[in-house]
Amino acid sequence: MTKIALGCIADDFTGATDLANNLVRAGMRVVQTIGVPTGPLAAEVDAVVVALKSRTIAPAEAVAQSLAALHWLQAQGARQIYFKYCSTFDSTPEGNIGPVTEALMDALGTDFTIATPAFPDNKRTVFKGYLFAGDGLLNESGMQNHPLTPMTDPNLVRVMQAQTKRRVGLIDYAVVARGAEAVRERIATLRTEGVGVAVVDAISNDDLLRMGPALAELPLLTAGSGVAIALPHNFGLAPSAQAAALPAARGLQAVVSGSCSVATNQQVAHFIASGRPALAIDPIKLAAGEDVVAQALAWAAPLLASGPVLVYSTAEPGAVKAVQGQLGVAEAGAMVEHAVAAIARGLVALGVRQLVVAGGETSGACVQALDIAQMQIGPQIDPGVPWCHAASPVAGEGGLHLTLKSGNFGAVDFFSKAFALL
Ligand code: ADP
Repeated sequence: MTKIALGCIADDFTGATDLANNLVRAGMRVVQTIGVPTGPLAAEVDAVVVALKSRTIAPAEAVAQSLAALHWLQAQGARQIYFKYCSTFDSTPEGNIGPVTEALMDALGTDFTIATPAFPDNKRTVFKGYLFAGDGLLNESGMQNHPLTPMTDPNLVRVMQAQTKRRVGLIDYAVVARGAEAVRERIATLRTEGVGVAVVDAISNDDLLRMGPALAELPLLTAGSGVAIALPHNFGLAPSAQAAALPAARGLQAVVSGSCSVATNQQVAHFIASGRPALAIDPIKLAAGEDVVAQALAWAAPLLASGPVLVYSTAEPGAVKAVQGQLGVAEAGAMVEHAVAAIARGLVALGVRQLVVAGGETSGACVQALDIAQMQIGPQIDPGVPWCHAASPVAGEGGLHLTLKSGNFGAVDFFSKAFALL
């Protein structure tokens, strides 16, 4: 069995990919698993990211799942554990960042860890413990209105303290700016003061890289995906094309899109304007019981040999609202996800081995429909979105390449760019 250096536990699916992507770019070979695997790791990699869906479930359940992930990662030899959460610190006073952090600390027998969601590449910065999203504070970024995890306080020391029994402290910018030795000294001081969790300031990638060496000694890190850029170096790894190497691409190409985000609408329009074949699926026909899946597959089958096709439910906000008004928000969402996933599965059965999926929830449904348990992370197409390679019983021998693009990610020509990169 191969031993991994870094074991990561991510509290949601696309967040896991985001972290894996950053680790690959910094030189690690990475596999992302969907949930906690039942058997040992089959691949030769430096890091594994276990993707959970634990961000907004009951704290006790999030703790139980995270501990199961920890135990599996330890069994694969992980030398350091990284608990990954959202760069907007999505949580409530009940959790789940605090309870999961403390449970992992207890299980690892450590009295100290850090907490920093800083991700400067994505405009998430932390200064004096205050989290900024873009040009404003977290609580002015729109996140104060989040339906599940409204973030009304930008001070992360206070936010973390509200969900943690251990004392929460700060390693502020003045310390980080002085480098790793200063961070080490500050950690030692905080430990003697009885602080168990320290929020760390970072406003640039340089700050993350500067603090990196001081993090090498900690059994547990908790962070967004930004801190990842500083970690491979601690294990003697440097950025290399080798880290992102995937098997050679083959087979037919297709895009399925269930995302209605602004960026995806533009990407769909761009693909259609380029003259490529595209088919819209109509949720109302779907609800009326028409076999939209079979119709889409019959449409795609003769076209696939000539290049990529697109099947999409992507629509403008007005059209989505109308459908939701007629069918209900959750019902429309689940029904469309299910149909798009069935189409993805059918396309792979038709020989598609390079699949682009647009939409976060849609991606989850497609991965499930394709029975994918783990994905090797490859080269980045656009920030936060890499190509992956996965085994799937639907694809059979050789597996398939897929990329999972959540809503607002990717440039306007993302779909064609993706195939060109492979
Ligand atoms: P994003 O990453 O852009 O948020 P998701 O896949 O996470 O995309 O979410 C989009 C949601 O909208 C899914 O539940 C999907 O099934 C649903 N949906 C997609 N197309 C339509 C449509 N035309 N009408 C109503 N709901 C839709």
